[in-house]
Amino acid sequence: EAKSLGSGNACVFQSQMQTRLTEKKSFEADLKQALRNGELELFYQPQVNTITRDICGYEALLRWFHPIRGQVPPSEFIPVAENIGLIHELGEWVLRTACLEATRWPRSLKVAVNLSPVQFRSRNLIQSVVTILTQSGLDPNRLELEITESVLLDKNEQTLDTLKKLKAVGIQIAMDDFGTGYSSLGSLRSFPFDKIKIDRSFIRDVTTRADAFAIVELVTGVGRSLGMTTIAEGIETEEQFACVKEVGCEQVQGYLMGMPVPAARLEHLRQEVDSDGLIEYERLVDAQAASGSG
Ligand code: C2E
Ligand code: MG
Ligand code: MG
Ligand code: MG
Repeated sequence: EAKSLGSGNACVFQSQMQTRLTEKKSFEADLKQALRNGELELFYQPQVNTITRDICGYEALLRWFHPIRGQVPPSEFIPVAENIGLIHELGEWVLRTACLEATRWPRSLKVAVNLSPVQFRSRNLIQSVVTILTQSGLDPNRLELEITESVLLDKNEQTLDTLKKLKAVGIQIAMDDFGTGYSSLGSLRSFPFDKIKIDRSFIRDVTTRADAFAIVELVTGVGRSLGMTTIAEGIETEEQFACVKEVGCEQVQGYLMGMPVPAARLEHLRQEVDSDGLIEYERLVDAQAASGSG
């Protein structure tokens, strides 16, 4: 087809390629500066016990606010950071920041941190996690690392070895986005997960489609039988909440329970801690409504 367009169009095509390449380079350069420029921030989203509605912990979610580009979603910059090798530096910053932040919370609350497959395969992973835990003073069993199924793709000894070492340190392991990609029920048997995060795509359809409901019910049942915590991701409506509660899903996370918010916005909640060290979900929602968000 390019031939029939003639040389003029080929030129246009070439200059478009050039523009795209320049933009890619500029995006990468901006991302490399983001940490130094203070453009990165962690937001925290609550994970809530389905029955008691107590908050069990928060997932740390990375945010990039660029002065000109505006807010760039992680789905756009994380893959780039992985490609250019920047994910190690970013990932360490995320882990250190999240662990430090969590030391200020009630001890009953965990912090969940997403780990890129690139980070997971790094030789330094264990050393770096242990160092960060020691320096921050966070109890290892309050840290939960979320890995995706792509980590299990290379089903070598190394993967299992890394997971076992993290477990030996006392860290919890969660399988993120379960049900998408290449996961199988067999992987739940072969790998020592503490938690299964049922992917948002199933929750979206759980009230309207029998197949999605069946999968959520099945995964919850398998999780329970294997002694793993199950959590439903992306709960947006009361109907979805009721549905996953009914099948016995232990925890929920989603906009209904709370949007991801900056650490500073969790601050005032800490003063509302119960005598038993738990913050109630209703209070969080009230506080969020009062401060005009989510
Ligand atoms: P994830 O780990 O599965 O995180 C959950 C995503 O779902 C987050 O998107 C969150 O904001 C969004 N979410 C939560 N509740 C709801 C809901 O009720 N409805 C909808 N529609 N969405 C909801 P976010 O923050 O854009 O992050 C996207 C992905 O980027 C994450 O998916 C994770 O894979 C990755 N990511 C985020 N932060 C980090 C990080 O620090 N390191 C690494 N390696 N990856 C990260
Ligand atoms: Mg996650
Ligand atoms: Mg997820
Ligand atoms: Mg996801």
